[in-house]
Amino acid sequence: MNIFTESNAVRADFPILQKRVYGLPLVYLDNAATTQKPVAVLNEIRQYYTDLNSNIHRGAHLLSEKASECYEVARETVRRFIHAPDAQEILFTAGTTASINLVAESYGNSYVQEGDEVIVSEMEHHSNIIPWQMLCSRKGAHLRVLPFDSTGRLCIELLDSMISEKTKMVAVTFVSNVTGVVNPVQEVIRIAHAHGVPVLVDGAQAVAHMSIDVQDFDSDFFAFSGHKMYASTGIGVLHAKSAWLKKMQPWQFGGGMISSVSFEHTTFANIPFKFEAGTPNIAGAISLGAAIRYMEAIGIDEICRHQRELLHYAESRLSELDRVVLYARGIEKCGLLSFNIDSVSPLDVAMLLDKMGIALRSGSHCAQPVMKHYGVTGTVRASFALYTTPEEIDSLVQGIKRAGSYLQGGYCHEHN
Ligand code: PMP
Repeated sequence: MNIFTESNAVRADFPILQKRVYGLPLVYLDNAATTQKPVAVLNEIRQYYTDLNSNIHRGAHLLSEKASECYEVARETVRRFIHAPDAQEILFTAGTTASINLVAESYGNSYVQEGDEVIVSEMEHHSNIIPWQMLCSRKGAHLRVLPFDSTGRLCIELLDSMISEKTKMVAVTFVSNVTGVVNPVQEVIRIAHAHGVPVLVDGAQAVAHMSIDVQDFDSDFFAFSGHKMYASTGIGVLHAKSAWLKKMQPWQFGGGMISSVSFEHTTFANIPFKFEAGTPNIAGAISLGAAIRYMEAIGIDEICRHQRELLHYAESRLSELDRVVLYARGIEKCGLLSFNIDSVSPLDVAMLLDKMGIALRSGSHCAQPVMKHYGVTGTVRASFALYTTPEEIDSLVQGIKRAGSYLQGGYCHEHN
């Protein structure tokens, strides 16, 4: 995709992008929170409910058979997308949060005992902190934190010495949802595996921006959400190595996950079904399959290149503004960047930019430890997607200049 032309062409696939807000064109730069949905995905959701709607894996009727088939085709599409060896390693969940909770409960209950340790990084989203923290407090185990340095880089050189025979899990994000910093997860995995410790990778901010190969990474658990990659909300994935899934106990129980039930005893279905209790989000899974096909039709490498170029462009344009503090500047990032205007509340900045039609996120981004690290209450975050254009980055820069002038009586000038 050519950054200056084709991002405009794909915009026609996203009806919401034609919308105006406050009478102005919508500049949607909150894609790390959730992406917009293309017609291809919307059509498949509609078609599912109009033509096929029924429950799966149970009914002995045509619609149920067809819906079950579509659901399993979606599972196979996800397998292909993340290069997993087998579709039985793909669990559909409600999202990244649900995937991590599943591992913390299911793996954690069996494998983490009193006195054990779980390592997370300082730059995790709350979703990759609290499930482990709750597990540790239930079990009398300890949560240890791998820090990041003043530049925003994970202090990976400390990891080896933090791991001991008490360590039962290393859980780390691939891409920070605050700074966009890309962590060397392969190196994390290599170090942890040298000690026999499994690794969970939070891929929420990575999947829409880079090609994912879980076999190449050798991650034990890889979690992500559909809604951050053009599918609907309420659908997500946990990829886990089958060796773990076969050993782990399910943590939710009910229909669809059993082999036999009596009042005395229950036996569970095989993987992946033993981890998918109850009626799943069938339309959501189908939407995720459709979103993957949509991305593949454009080309995953093309999408990644486009978003990388956009990010470089945005970083260089924002670096030209004085009084704008950019976080983790110059470090390898993907998909997003965070900034503050000198001593101006990030909420005020985002609210003013909203009135200019520019949708951003402000606040702590569900990552309060990162805010504490930087000594701020929040940042403003701009995040990109395959339909983001360089002109939208220009609008952002203009908006920041105007907001700076309103809020502090002085302009955010460009350096010469
Ligand atoms: N991890 C990261 C890095 C995220 O950015 C997010 C979403 N902001 C999550 C986890 C949680 O994702 P979800 O709300 O889709 O479960």
